[in-house]
Amino acid sequence: MSQSSVWHPFTQHALEPAIPEIVLTEGAYLHKADGTRILDAISSWWVVTHGHRHPRIMKAIETTASKLDQIIFAGFTHEPAERLAEALVSLAPSGLDRVFYSDSGSTCVEVALKMALGYFRNTGPPRSRIVVMEHSYHGDTIGTMSVGARGVFNAAYEPLLFEVDTIPFPSTGHEQETLDRFEAVSRDRRAAALIVEPLVLGAGGMLMYPAWVLAELKKIAEASGTLLIADEVMTGWGRTGTMFACEQASISPDILCTSKGLTGGAIPLAATLATDAIFQAHYSEDRKKTFFHSSSYTANPIACAAALANVEIWQDEPVTDRIAALSARQAAGLQRFRDNSCFTDSRVTGTIAAIDLRTGSAGYLAEIGPKLRAFFLERGLLVRPLGNVLYLLPPYCITGDELDGLYDAIEEAGERFGSRP
Ligand SMILES: *Cc1c(COP(=O)(O)O)cnc(C)c1O
Repeated sequence: MSQSSVWHPFTQHALEPAIPEIVLTEGAYLHKADGTRILDAISSWWVVTHGHRHPRIMKAIETTASKLDQIIFAGFTHEPAERLAEALVSLAPSGLDRVFYSDSGSTCVEVALKMALGYFRNTGPPRSRIVVMEHSYHGDTIGTMSVGARGVFNAAYEPLLFEVDTIPFPSTGHEQETLDRFEAVSRDRRAAALIVEPLVLGAGGMLMYPAWVLAELKKIAEASGTLLIADEVMTGWGRTGTMFACEQASISPDILCTSKGLTGGAIPLAATLATDAIFQAHYSEDRKKTFFHSSSYTANPIACAAALANVEIWQDEPVTDRIAALSARQAAGLQRFRDNSCFTDSRVTGTIAAIDLRTGSAGYLAEIGPKLRAFFLERGLLVRPLGNVLYLLPPYCITGDELDGLYDAIEEAGERFGSRP
């Protein structure tokens, strides 16, 4: 039995080998207590954007901590929250003029769902159905699991999850089926919102679909008065090649969720951006129309300052050039797997590259997952496959040589674990 009292996330402690201790983070690396380092090819679960401990973000945290800690955000405000809200409104797709703070991806999605229902309740007639896309992931709370894919992760909690309408994932050649289904479920005007991960479904296996599908979904939503919630928790802050993935479809959702990369990945913070119409639906002399949501750590000033520093990095450093270069490298890097029959479905959207390893069994619990993870870790690489899906979602500071080392290791993993058709 382990000596530690810590219960780790998504960890089967009965099967997990010894858990390494990290004593230092720097750029693209995690340094272990034994002096070796690990290349963080998944940005520590998709949060770190520029690299670990960007000096500017660390400095903002230090400076703010000398003046402010948590303050109640109901009835009070502070400069980091005000300035950040202003920055977010100017960076996000147009029309998202209101910013509601919370503290994680799951909470900002819960906030989005509550805003959507509140909007219809306050303006009438009420609507309460949520439409979701097959294979989606929106978080691990009861509400966010309800709008996410059902499976082994939430089987135990299924009795508590609410019912949703599901539209199929728009796989290549089947896009119209997705659009037709959405049209059909939104026609009776009972759907309050469609929630989607724009362009890339992360936890569902780095599934990618084209921007035009997102643009069509927005049109159908508009036609039936259904709100569009873009869950950009993973796709935001450059991952898909643009600051927000919605930009590539030239759309503005009604609600946008952002978290992970919001502080550059340094410290927890989340925001739900909404249109003024949604804010106005809650703006009333009738107290019953108040938006009843709060997280204790709402708009933590230190976290807001970290996010502001992140915004400044985007403004002052060549972040978009870095992202373009990384995206090009990922696209070129995957070329070498094109004729490798150990793999299928190589795909890239912006900085995210993914490829499926051909194995006897697929799915998240496929035996292959832990074996692959150990294989990469032995080589000093943090790659955490989603079942048989290998993906690289690295911080933007990763070098070409480091990426080449990762592709080499993936190729070797194919030889070792893949089964040719
Ligand atoms: C990670 C993720 C979430 C949940 O974020 P947490 O901070 O882990 O609660 C929600 N939506 C998407 C698309 C995500 O990738």
